[in-house]
Amino acid sequence: MRRADRQIRTHHAVVLGSGMAGLSAAAVLVGHFDRVTLVERDTVSPLTSGQGHRGVPQSSHAHGLAFSAVQQLERLFPGLFRQCVTAGAVQMEAGSQGRAIYHGHTLRQAPSDINTLLATRPFLEYEVRRRVLELPRITLRENTEAAGLIADASGDVRGVQVCPAGMTALAPENLEADLVVDATGRGARSGAWLERLGHPRAPEERVKADVTYASRHFALSPDVLGNDRVVLVGATSAQPRGLIFAAQERNTWVLSLQGYGNHRPPGDPAGFLAYAAAVAPQDITHHLHTATPVDEITFHRFPCGIRRRYDKLHGFPAGLLVIGDALCSVNPVYGSGTALAVGQANALDTCLNRPDGSLARRYFRAAHRVTNLPWWLAACGDYSLTRQGKRSRLLGNGFQRLMAAAERDPRTASAVLKSLLLVESPLSLTRPHILRQILTPARVRQVSPA
Ligand SMILES: Cc1cc2nc3c(=O)[nH]c(=O)nc-3n(C[C@H](O)[C@H](O)[C@H](O)COP(=O)(O)OP(=O)(O)OC[C@H]3O[C@@H](n4cnc5c(N)ncnc54)[C@H](O)[C@@H]3O)c2cc1C
Repeated sequence: MRRADRQIRTHHAVVLGSGMAGLSAAAVLVGHFDRVTLVERDTVSPLTSGQGHRGVPQSSHAHGLAFSAVQQLERLFPGLFRQCVTAGAVQMEAGSQGRAIYHGHTLRQAPSDINTLLATRPFLEYEVRRRVLELPRITLRENTEAAGLIADASGDVRGVQVCPAGMTALAPENLEADLVVDATGRGARSGAWLERLGHPRAPEERVKADVTYASRHFALSPDVLGNDRVVLVGATSAQPRGLIFAAQERNTWVLSLQGYGNHRPPGDPAGFLAYAAAVAPQDITHHLHTATPVDEITFHRFPCGIRRRYDKLHGFPAGLLVIGDALCSVNPVYGSGTALAVGQANALDTCLNRPDGSLARRYFRAAHRVTNLPWWLAACGDYSLTRQGKRSRLLGNGFQRLMAAAERDPRTASAVLKSLLLVESPLSLTRPHILRQILTPARVRQVSPA
């Protein structure tokens, strides 16, 4: 037996879905199981670098990694950061090369040791998939769709039913496994499959976002905005429109417009640019009017954040785990999805290294610890944007004051940056110095030296 949980056999693990969560889970499981099968509905192996696939509609929108995602990925795939930069990803020192504007206040820029990556999701997925498929004892079964679970008489999961993609009406093939990990994204059906086997459904929490992305890539060199590599303009309740303008691989920049509620960005090129001009700083508008678009405008609507509280279920069956967006899907404007997915994979590794009691119970608790604070950070942001009333006004005002302080005060700016990039817990924003900056009326506040 390998090092895995003594309560489960460690012959074969199956991972459903080969997005960032599934690839990371597979890389972990190969260290604990004799063999690992990755089941993916799309055909992914012929894809070249930067080519997206149907199951990942976020492929054409702005994409970057929080610092914690870089750290978590590096733990699983040593040297991945260098590999990506060599292959063309944009390296960004976040303190001085990221421009973040919220409530009209620009986060004070200052050099930091926070290096992160900007690259499209298909680019990153390609580089990670390459690394995973180089690992021994991993098999990719693409164009194959998971359609249900197999259970034994006690209700524990013993494998998964699969069929050729889109052919769920056919008699499924049984793929037996000692552990099945569902990484099929936010539309995951493992909850329904478990219900069919007589297990209760996990409580589900939702936070309304109702944000629509519209994105287009332009041919522009990485230094078109001087030192800046990404510009974020956050939406507010007064102006429920935001944008991300980010350098991506191969001398392209992506403009992702984000509109809440009825403020959906338009799909015609002139309307798209006019919408951007109403939100973007002038230097961006200037470049957009002369830049050559390299693709069509693409939309993605994100109705709500969802998290499934498997950690609250008693008597969860052995043999199944859930990871990534399938477990916790956060509004993408916060850019935390990859960090949470890969963080959960590393938490799984820790659980498998210390076999003691139920793997499912320990894993779901550990995964909850990874996701809980970023979930609340996003929930507070969404709440302040999508709800009326005193509490949401209070949140909005608090964030506005925080950003005003972060524009003037380097220590506050550094703390905000570290929270946004998941370097530090958002609780660090409650340090006395920062609270003083937020609460003291501006006219008596001293501006700290840069
Ligand atoms: C518009 C947008 C922008 C985003 N930007 C960022 C960003 O800048 N930074 C960041 O960190 N995160 C971002 N995210 C979030 C991030 O993409 C995800 O949170 C993260 O990659 C984890 O995804 P996942 O692997 O869990 O799921 P997914 O990426 O959804 O992958 C699921 C995989 O499962 C496959 N699949 C689905 N059903 C089945 C089935 N039945 N059988 C077999 N295979 C199946 C799919 O084909 C797919 O390959 C963004 C998300 C969106 C929507």
